[in-house]
Amino acid sequence: MAISNSVLIIDDSDAVRERIIKTLESFDLFSRYYEAEDGLEGFKKLLSSPVDIILCDLEMPRIDGFKFLSMMKSRPDLQDTPVIMLTGRDDRDLRIKCLEQGASDYVTKPFDAEELVARVRVHLKIKNLQDDLKRTNELLLELSNTDHLTGLFNRRYLMESLGKEVQRSLRKGGNLSLIILDIDHFKQVNDQYGHLQGDIVLQKVALLLQKELRAYDTAARYGGEEFIAVLPDARLDEAIFVADRVRTSVQANRFSGELSKLSLTISLGVAMFSKQTCKSEDDFIKLADDALYRAKSNGRNRVESAE
Ligand code: GH3
Ligand code: MG
Ligand code: MG
Ligand code: MG
Repeated sequence: MAISNSVLIIDDSDAVRERIIKTLESFDLFSRYYEAEDGLEGFKKLLSSPVDIILCDLEMPRIDGFKFLSMMKSRPDLQDTPVIMLTGRDDRDLRIKCLEQGASDYVTKPFDAEELVARVRVHLKIKNLQDDLKRTNELLLELSNTDHLTGLFNRRYLMESLGKEVQRSLRKGGNLSLIILDIDHFKQVNDQYGHLQGDIVLQKVALLLQKELRAYDTAARYGGEEFIAVLPDARLDEAIFVADRVRTSVQANRFSGELSKLSLTISLGVAMFSKQTCKSEDDFIKLADDALYRAKSNGRNRVESAE
């Protein structure tokens, strides 16, 4: 067991706390020990220094073990911290109540040292596995290329792959075009139908965009309701043609259910990469974005391109 673990011991009896600490120390389980005399003091300590496991007495003056458990429930960040309840009464109903209120385990006092240590070990092990799992999930999310709402690539992946395409174009020549798409009056969609329905609209637009692209084109969610498609080997006129097909497809689409009355349109800006006008992928996106801006100011539901 990693020696970097910490424990909080909450008990109104100095003698009990001392005995618990002596026991745990003799098994070398923790590097840090925190103590508190009641639930409130324990909760305060917990907020200032999170621990890996808590041993908590049930009967204490003022804030007792049950109240302590309910205070812990109010904090989502404390849900994974195991609490082992200690009590002087060996009462079946009390044991059940403890577990129902969120305790991980229950030990009766006077406790058997080896049993206490064995139980602490089990819950520490679970806690450490959970922490590992959380870290792995965070890492996976960070490494992910996918936008979770639409299933398209995310902005991080887009910028990485667009960077590569731009480098390739600079080295080898070859056409490279980019389409940026923004939903018209999307705020109104959210206002009228709610955010969840708005999300459904985003998913549909992503699907319709993807449908019009070739296998080697890249479609990504660039921001909230903005999408970018990168089209290698496409001239400007070819990309404009694709953009207009996407535009028509969104206009022709009929939503079902709550959204059945919605008429949705999109505006698009198209640009082709050239050494003269772009030094970087950011310049390239800016060119298409300026065209998009013109599509919006010229009345929306249209395609404009960079000259
Ligand atoms: P315009 O025609 O000028 O583009 O008007 P607009 O209303 O689309 O304007 P704007 O681009 O400023 O609005 C974008 C809106 O998209 C604002 C924001 O609430 C919404 N939005 C951004 N991300 C999400 C999302 O993930 N889900 C939902 N439902 N809405 C989002
Ligand atoms: Mg007590
Ligand atoms: Mg927008
Ligand atoms: Mg918009």
